[in-house]
Amino acid sequence: MPETLSPSPALTVLSEEEELFRQTVREFAESEIRPLVHAMDEAGSFRAELIGKFFELGLMGVEVPERWGGAGGSFFLATVAIEELARVDASAAIYVDVHNTLVNNALLRWGTDEQKARYFPRMTSGLLGAFALSEPGSGSDAFALQTRAVAREGHWELTGRKFWITNGAEAGIFIVFANADPAKGYKGITGFLVERDFPGFAVGKKENKLGIRASSTCELILESCRVPETNVLGPVGQGYRVSIETLNEGRIGIGAQMVGVSEGALQAALGYVKERKQFGKPVSEFQGVQFQLAQMRTDLEAARLMVYNAARLKDGGRPFTAEAAMAKLFSSQVADRITSTCVELFGGYGYSKEYPVEKYYRDAKIGTIYEGTSNMQLLTIAKSLLK
Ligand SMILES: Cc1cc2nc3c(=O)[nH]c(=O)nc-3n(C[C@H](O)[C@H](O)[C@H](O)COP(=O)(O)OP(=O)(O)OC[C@H]3O[C@@H](n4cnc5c(N)ncnc54)[C@H](O)[C@@H]3O)c2cc1C
Repeated sequence: MPETLSPSPALTVLSEEEELFRQTVREFAESEIRPLVHAMDEAGSFRAELIGKFFELGLMGVEVPERWGGAGGSFFLATVAIEELARVDASAAIYVDVHNTLVNNALLRWGTDEQKARYFPRMTSGLLGAFALSEPGSGSDAFALQTRAVAREGHWELTGRKFWITNGAEAGIFIVFANADPAKGYKGITGFLVERDFPGFAVGKKENKLGIRASSTCELILESCRVPETNVLGPVGQGYRVSIETLNEGRIGIGAQMVGVSEGALQAALGYVKERKQFGKPVSEFQGVQFQLAQMRTDLEAARLMVYNAARLKDGGRPFTAEAAMAKLFSSQVADRITSTCVELFGGYGYSKEYPVEKYYRDAKIGTIYEGTSNMQLLTIAKSLLK
């Protein structure tokens, strides 16, 4: 059993290695990302040099074995990185989240040794990944995807459009899902490793969004895109498993992102209510405000415990699907509530872009949508209850 499941007295007590890692990411986020957050949000684009630093810091191969350039760490460590980055900037967090918990994870679980040896050294040193499942007409009903894969001599041809693809503007490698045998329904879905410069592949429009504005979200266009036979990820016709099982894990990362967003907003509000004076004293001295703070702290503790528990269950090789869905559902609801309350605690200033909380409020919303909407998490949880 991995060391991270070890005899920790409580879920929130980290091992020495985990604590050191947390501190490193926190210091990096505070010193290198925080000063750029507002400008990146306003511009709606992420600074390329920060992505380079994610690689340099070893944040882009947290679970990848050392022989392929990774850090050989746990899934839990990846969630710690995501939480700490999201505390400062949810957009920064999602670059690291998608790359680790979706792309690296899918390749680790479903890739051949040859694919891992070919791609991981690049994916831990500069090649950013994206995960392309959604399409204009298929989101929650992901298996209704219309992108088609046709087998040719020595290669496949992929044709279709993908929508909402995180990291799309900067990624060099995309896990693309296409149906290789529509007659078989979802059992035709197959995963492919598609490089940005493969013939017939193009990145289209970038979305202008409510929140996580600096994170790129793009359309992908595949027109008879030529993908070598050696780039099929997992067995042909098993792409539905590759996608769903990867997302089951990825959801824990989104939970961590929501915990980080909540913590960031709460810390900002704590600072503010101690400074802001009304009726001759700091507003933190009003019991009504104290109760709001205490409620937020309690909600956040519960969300964090659920996320850590799901991550540690996964690391321990135990069933975690329902726990991951509950963690994502709850932590995104909590983030929605906490960031909203924090805007209110800042009063009118909370509504201004001069102060940090309105951004946390906008960034929180995505947690209820991507990697399965809240309703889809409820479906998963209900299924586990009734099976
Ligand atoms: C910023 C951003 C980044 C994204 N990144 C990626 C990415 O990297 N890769 C990727 O593949 N996708 C990505 N997505 C897509 C995302 O996963 C989908 O938007 C999401 O799964 C919802 O699908 P949809 O938008 O088609 O909504 P729909 O599926 O059309 O849902 C609309 C509403 O109907 C509800 N609903 C649908 N079906 C049911 C049901 N059976 N029971 C009850 N309610 C239901 C939903 O909960 C929702 O409220 C991203 C989206 C956004 C906004």
